[in-house]
Amino acid sequence: MAEELNPFKIAQQQLDKAAKKLNLDPKVHEKLREPMRIHEVSIPVKMDNGEEKKFVGFRVQYNNARGPYKGGIRFHPDETLDTVKALAAWMTWKTAVVNIPLGGGKGGVICNTKEMSLGEIERLSRGYARALADKIGPHIDVPAPDVYTNPQIMAWIMDEYEKVTGKSCPAVITGKPLELGGSEGRGDATAQGVIYTIREAANHLGIDLKNARVVVQGYGNVGYFVAIKMKELGSKVIAVSDSRGGIYSEDGLDPEKVFEFKKKNKTVVGYPGSKEITNKELLELECDILVPAALENQITHENADGIKAKLVAEAANGPTTFEAGEILTRRKVFTIPHFLCNSGGVIVSYFEWIQNLYGYYWTREVVMERMDKIITKAFLDVLKMSLDEKVDMRTAAYMISIKRVADAIKLRGNFNQKNGDVII
Ligand code: NAD
Repeated sequence: MAEELNPFKIAQQQLDKAAKKLNLDPKVHEKLREPMRIHEVSIPVKMDNGEEKKFVGFRVQYNNARGPYKGGIRFHPDETLDTVKALAAWMTWKTAVVNIPLGGGKGGVICNTKEMSLGEIERLSRGYARALADKIGPHIDVPAPDVYTNPQIMAWIMDEYEKVTGKSCPAVITGKPLELGGSEGRGDATAQGVIYTIREAANHLGIDLKNARVVVQGYGNVGYFVAIKMKELGSKVIAVSDSRGGIYSEDGLDPEKVFEFKKKNKTVVGYPGSKEITNKELLELECDILVPAALENQITHENADGIKAKLVAEAANGPTTFEAGEILTRRKVFTIPHFLCNSGGVIVSYFEWIQNLYGYYWTREVVMERMDKIITKAFLDVLKMSLDEKVDMRTAAYMISIKRVADAIKLRGNFNQKNGDVII
C-alpha cells in the first residue's frame, strides 16, 4: 500500500500535526500514537459445502482513558490491521470530540460477505464473538456495526456473547434490532448527524440548503439516508455512486427511487434518465456540497485540486488522505472532519448503551433532539477553535479531542510522575 494511502499513517500524521500545535507532552503524544491493545483471532467456520475455512479477525482497543472502548466491526475482503488501527484511533477522537464518556476501538474480519450465505455469515459472526468474548463487555469494549455488518449480525454477536457468559447483556453491543434492545433512530443516526453538521456549516458559509447542489459518494446506510435527508431540506442531489460506478442528473435525482432501483439491480448504475459517470468524475463535479460516504482514501493528492465543492462533509471514515487534506485547506475548501461529521452514529450508540444499562427506552424524538444538542455543540466548539487558533477544522477537532484524552490520562495518574507528584 502506498504510504499516502496507509490509513494508520494518515491518522498518525493528523495526530502529530495537532499535537505540535498543542505543545503536547511528548510522553502523552507517544502513548497516543499507538493502540493500547491489539487482538488478532483465527475463526474456523463450517462452510455450506461442509469444509472448514479459517477467517482472520481483529479487535483493536485504541484508548480507554475516557471510558470503555467503542467502535464498529467491519466485514471486508480488503480489511487490514492498519485500517482497523486507524479506524480505532479515529473512534478515540470521535468519542472525545463530542465529549461522550467512551474510548475508541474497532473490529474487522477479512471476508467477502457477498460470496457467503446467510448461514455462513451467522457462523462467522458467532465465531468472532466467541473468540473475543473475554475481551469485550459493557464496561470493557462495546462493538457496533460498520461497513457490511448490520443489526442482524449485532443480534447474533449479542446472543453468542450471552451464551458464553450465561447472562442477559444487551449493552455488550450497539446497533441491535429494536426488538432486542436497539435504540430508536440508530438506523439513520449517522446520516442525521451528518445533516446536523452540514446545517451548521452551511449556516457559517452562507450556503442556502434549499438551493444547494449535492453529490454523494457511496449509497449504503449512510449515503442513502444523507441523500434522502438533503432532498427533504430542498437541496438537489445531482449525483450518487456505489462501488460499481456513479450516476448524474442535472435536474436532480429522486433518492428514494434510486434506492428502489439499487435494491432490484444491486447498483445505482443504469438508473433511468441518469448519465453514467465514474467515481473519479463524481468527486470532481461542480457542486456546493460533496459528501464522501463510501470508504477511506477517496480524496487524494491526485484529485484534491479538482474538487469544486465549497463544503466537503466527510461522512465516511478517513475519506481524505493527509496530503489531500493539506491541499483542501490551502484551497479553502471547508471540510467537516469525518470523526465529527459522522459522529451521530456513535452518539446514538452511546444512547443505546445507556438505555440498555438502565432498561428504559426513549422515543425517536428524544434521541434525535439529544443527538442534535451534542453534535451541534461539538461542531460549534470545533469551529471556534478553528477560528481562534487559525487552523483548519480537522486540526481544530484533533486539538479538542487530544486535549480531552490527554487530560484523562494525566488525571488517572501513574503517568509523568516526579517525586510522587502528578504533573497536570
Ligand atoms: P455500507 O456498506 O452500508 O455502504 C457503503 C457504500 O459504499 C456502498 O454503497 C458501496 O457500494 C459503496 N462503495 C464501496 N466502495 C466504493 C467506491 N470505491 N466508490 C464508491 N462507492 C463505494 O456502509 P455505511 O455504513 O454506509 O458506511 C459508509 C462509510 O461511513 C464508511 O466509511 C463507514 O466506516 C462510515 N461510517 C458508518 C457509520 C454507520 O453508522 N453505518 C458510522 C460512522 C461512519
